[in-house]
Amino acid sequence: MTLTITRSQELQKRAKTLMPGGVNSPVRGFGAVGGTPIFIHEAAGSSMTDVNGNYFIDYVGSWGPLILGHAHPEVVDTIEKTLHGGTSFGCTSEPELELAELVIEAIPSIEMVRMVSSGTEAGMAVLRLARGITGRPRIIKMVGCYHGHADSLLVKAGSGVATFGLPDSPGVTTATAADTICVPFNNLKAVEDILRDQADQIAAVLLEPIAGNMGLVPPLPGYLQSLRNLCNQYDVLLIFDEVMTGFRVGFGGAQSLYNVMPDLTMLGKVIGGGLPVGAYGGRKDLMEQIAPSGPIYQAGTLSGNPLAMTAGLATLRLLKDGSLYEKLERTSCRLMEGLAGVAADAGIETFSTRVGSMLGMFFQLGPVTHFDDAARSDTKRYADYFHGMLKKGIYFAPSQFETAFVSTAHTETDIDRTIEAGGEVFSSLKS
Ligand code: PLP
Repeated sequence: MTLTITRSQELQKRAKTLMPGGVNSPVRGFGAVGGTPIFIHEAAGSSMTDVNGNYFIDYVGSWGPLILGHAHPEVVDTIEKTLHGGTSFGCTSEPELELAELVIEAIPSIEMVRMVSSGTEAGMAVLRLARGITGRPRIIKMVGCYHGHADSLLVKAGSGVATFGLPDSPGVTTATAADTICVPFNNLKAVEDILRDQADQIAAVLLEPIAGNMGLVPPLPGYLQSLRNLCNQYDVLLIFDEVMTGFRVGFGGAQSLYNVMPDLTMLGKVIGGGLPVGAYGGRKDLMEQIAPSGPIYQAGTLSGNPLAMTAGLATLRLLKDGSLYEKLERTSCRLMEGLAGVAADAGIETFSTRVGSMLGMFFQLGPVTHFDDAARSDTKRYADYFHGMLKKGIYFAPSQFETAFVSTAHTETDIDRTIEAGGEVFSSLKS
């Protein structure tokens, strides 16, 4: 099958004159895989249709929020009903309390929560809170973990050794970056070495408990609990960024799955049911340091707006009884095993990872336990695979270093079609 892309090409030409790179978020620009970005016309359930009329089974799901698929009827219905009562009040309304109650019930370490409008905002706020509470300037983050685009979080480390951060982007000052110390994911000793030397300078250890922004890299057995123990020993806060994993790998997020409790948690994506929502929460004594109950300032014009709150509520209520996670586990397992199988049959080296409905496939033999491992993948081959699948109507992320998401809307037929397409594409890669 060849894709018709005439209209997308026209729109991309126009978009490039209007928006940097023609997009409102960089990875949408297809920079890592080349070619013309797809322009979506509409989406429903597990699929999207582009402006040329091409149909795609979608495993990006707006980068994670759409665990129920596109335009889920109950979510859409809730949004429609809410809409007519006003879109934002700048005052507190009941849906905020209901969503807060549900979050506190679901996520074991959260006793109090503050809603914001994106994961990035949650990251900025949680860092200020950690620094404000402890009076210490520095944080430890893991290479390859993404926490949004706040200055102090746009930092990576030198090659594999614990080091002071260097800015990842022009505009992030060296002084800001110096307060972010990067260590490899899944490497406990690197954290311990830093804490032993300078715990009195460290406000928090921050990580994605399941890394989803270097491809999908699960924590090694015992890693999260050992980090918890180290943070207790050195009296440093532990922050889990569950923007991607919260309500995704289970209703209680990664912390429930691995039974390790952070002091503070960032949330986003699924919590907003496809509308812009982020949140951060944790122990009550910590959260009460936030204004107006405490001195640490954080605010938002549209925070807690009724549209976003009710879309989130409708989504979380459908997920709450857990049965949808069982379905997701089954379909996701079949997809991963199916794709890994056809890759092996075609003689293509891949290393697959999965936690619940989050999937990774690295174009290399693995194992992949941290960023430097992930970076050894054959990105050129991934780009060929991506375009091959796209031509067959299957949309995976336009980068090797992203996670694939299965939604409850994906059917057995979708999974069969994807595996079949995978088999054909892997065979064509070989030649
Ligand atoms: N944290 C994680 C783990 C993420 O994956 C992302 C976004 O992909 C963010 C934070 C930032 O969230 P947002 O894009 O809503 O600002």
